[in-house]
Amino acid sequence: MPTNKQTALVTGAAGFLGSHLVDTLLSRGYQVLGVDNFITGSKENLKSALQNGDFVFIQGDVISSPDSYLPEDEKVDLVFHLASPASPPIYQKYPIETYLVNSLGTHQLLQYMLEKNPDVRFVYASSSEAYGEPQEHPQKETYWGNVNPNGVRSCYDESKRFGEMVCGVHSRDMSMDIRIMRIFNTFGPRMNPADGRVIPNFVTQALHNNPLTVYGDGSQTRSFCYVDDLIAGMILLAESPKASGMTINLGNPEEKTILELAMLIKEQTDSKSEIVYQPLPGDDPTKRRPDISKAKEVLGWAPKVTFEVGLQKTIEYFKGK
Ligand code: NAD
Ligand code: UDP
Repeated sequence: MPTNKQTALVTGAAGFLGSHLVDTLLSRGYQVLGVDNFITGSKENLKSALQNGDFVFIQGDVISSPDSYLPEDEKVDLVFHLASPASPPIYQKYPIETYLVNSLGTHQLLQYMLEKNPDVRFVYASSSEAYGEPQEHPQKETYWGNVNPNGVRSCYDESKRFGEMVCGVHSRDMSMDIRIMRIFNTFGPRMNPADGRVIPNFVTQALHNNPLTVYGDGSQTRSFCYVDDLIAGMILLAESPKASGMTINLGNPEEKTILELAMLIKEQTDSKSEIVYQPLPGDDPTKRRPDISKAKEVLGWAPKVTFEVGLQKTIEYFKGK
């Protein structure tokens, strides 16, 4: 891609967040290389990007060395490492692929960049899961978390923490420009209706008048961010010189119980579904809410889309599925 444009590499480009990020980067004038192995993503999400001459899609596995999938001598200015299953039932179905892409995958990408593009800016998608079952509420970036090192969610949350460590080593010891985003629950169009996360599950169930499956008693909380807000935060994190070396929470601090969420979705879809209670999965965090004061201060970022507006757009998308 020999032009003056900046080139961004997005791993996990065919996923929910990756595909929205690709579209936004293209609209901002970047050339974009998107890599995905389709373990959870789909080419359908890249329908519009694939028609853009500034987008190149590479089918590749980010667990392997980038030598095996990146064009030789490609100058990359910015990397977003998003590749990883993100839905609890799916990462538990693919535990090895999940822990490897966040650990070895992050290591391979950073080592490759250190050798070929040491001045690259590297943005790593960590997760609110790094806080585990939080003893501090809301969660600030300074909180070290309370994670079961060997439970059903560990393939994901411990590997996100390992990935953060790999980033820390390359930032401190190799002076690379790395930014870590701890992403809290995000929702919107292009989520896979079958991926098992709560919003796709409830919206699909409600649209078919099937029972809404609340796990446990529904008193556990989450804080949901609409995808457009999250992508705006990601771009600011990547482009702001002040954010170099930082770890920043990105999410919407409006907290809801899962039972409240079920009621809202039932209401907004005008559904006749009943609510049924099923066992709470292992190590399911009882509460989660980001403290976003650092994102506000460093990036001037805060979410703008109300939950109701985001939900309506998401419902419209799922109606077409
Ligand atoms: P997703 O499952 O929709 O997308 C992940 C993408 O990564 C998929 O397209 C998948 O095929 C691809 N992928 C996985 N392993 C790969 C590999 N080895 N090589 C190449 N591609 C691979 O999930 P998402 O919600 O878009 O999440 C994207 C990232 O954001 C993940 O790293 C996830 O952990 C993180 N995150 C998401 C949320 C959220 O609420 N959506 C919250 C916290 C963190
Ligand atoms: N959940 C639920 N019913 C479902 C799917 C999920 O009650 O059909 C609950 C789940 O137990 C968790 C919350 O909703 O407490 C959010 O789950 P999700 O899988 O979306 O993401 P998590 O934040 O747990 O990674």
